[in-house]
Amino acid sequence: MVKRRPTIQVPVGDLVIGSEHPVRVQSMTNTDSRDRDGTAAQIARMVEAGCEAVRVTIPDPESAANIPFWRSKMEVPFIADIHFNHMMALAAIEAGADKVRINPGNIGKEAKVREVLEAARRKGTAIRIGVNSGSLEKDLLEKHGWPSPEALVESALRHVAFARDVGVEKIIVSIKSTDVPAAVEANTLFGEQSDVPLHVGITEAGDPTYGAVKSAAGIGAILLRGIGDTIRVSLTSDPEEEMPVAYDILKCTGVRVISPEIIACPTCGRIDIDLEKIVGEVKQRLARCTLPVKISVLGCAVNGPGEAREADIGIAGGAGEGLLFRKGKTIRKVREDQIVDALIEEIAAIEAERAAEAVAEQAP
Ligand code: SF4
Repeated sequence: MVKRRPTIQVPVGDLVIGSEHPVRVQSMTNTDSRDRDGTAAQIARMVEAGCEAVRVTIPDPESAANIPFWRSKMEVPFIADIHFNHMMALAAIEAGADKVRINPGNIGKEAKVREVLEAARRKGTAIRIGVNSGSLEKDLLEKHGWPSPEALVESALRHVAFARDVGVEKIIVSIKSTDVPAAVEANTLFGEQSDVPLHVGITEAGDPTYGAVKSAAGIGAILLRGIGDTIRVSLTSDPEEEMPVAYDILKCTGVRVISPEIIACPTCGRIDIDLEKIVGEVKQRLARCTLPVKISVLGCAVNGPGEAREADIGIAGGAGEGLLFRKGKTIRKVREDQIVDALIEEIAAIEAERAAEAVAEQAP
C-alpha cells in the first residue's frame, strides 16, 4: 500500500484535496467556453464518466459570464483555467468558481498576481498555481541554465511563498511537463520540500493509446512515491475518455481502488477455453460494480490457483471447464458456459460478506 505524502487539506467546493482524502480525478472541457449549453453538456458527460472536478478555460468576459450557469448545474467543483489575463481570474472568482488555476509566469506583473490572490483570499476561492517550463522566470532560467526540474520546483516554491504572504492558504500546485522523467523528478523534489497538495499530470500526452501509456508511466511513477492528490490524464480526444484511464492508473498503483481488478493471463498454446470471451463478459457484467475485488482469470491450471493466491476469486481454465477458487483454495469445477455466472455469483457473495463484516464492525 502506498503511503501518501502528508499535505495540508484544501477545500475546493464540496471536495477536500489533500493526503487525508482520496486522490481525485479531474479533467478539462475542450468546447468553446462561450458556448454555454455545449460546454454544459460536455461537463455533464464528464461528470457521468467519473470526473470529480471540471476545469474550463476562461479566456474572455463572455466565457466568465457563463460560470454561474454551469456552476448551478454541477455537483462537482468548478475550476476556472486562466492564462495571461488576470482580469479573467478576477471575473471567475467573482462569478463563483471554486478554484482558479493561474500560471503566475504568464499573468505578468507581480501586482496583478497579488490582486488575484487577494480576491481569492477574500472570497475563499482555492488557487492552483501551475508552473511549466514555457513560462519560467528569467532569473531562474539564468540560474539553472534550462527549465530543469530544480528550476521548476524553485519557481513553484517561490509562488507558494508569495501566495502565503498574501494570506492565501487554499493552494494546490501543479508542475507539469510532457517529459516523463522530468515530471517525475520535479514532482518528487517538490513533494520533499512542501506540504502543499499536488495536482499531477503529464501534459500533451498524446493520442488515446500512447497518451494512456505515457500518463500511466508518469502519473503512476509519481503516485507510487506517495505524491499526488489530484490527477489528470491528458489525451487528444474527448475528455470523457480520460476518466477510465485515470481510474485504471489509480487502481493498478493501488492508490485508490473503487472497482474490481481483473487479472487475466495473456493466453498461450496450452489454452483450451475461450478466455478472451470470458474476460470480456466478466468486464462487461462488472462495468458498474464498485467492489474492490481482485479477480484472476487464467487460461489453464499450469500454475493452478497458487499463481493467483493474491486474488479474491479466480478461475483456471481446463478442457471445456474451469476450476473456481477463492484466495487460492479450490471451491469447485464449473462448465465453460457457466464460468462467468459462477464468478459473478461468488463476487456477489464476497460483497455480501464484506457488508456483513462492516455492519459487525460498527456494532457496539
Ligand atoms: S495460464 Fe496457462 S494458458 Fe494462460 S498463459 Fe499461462 S500457461 Fe498459458
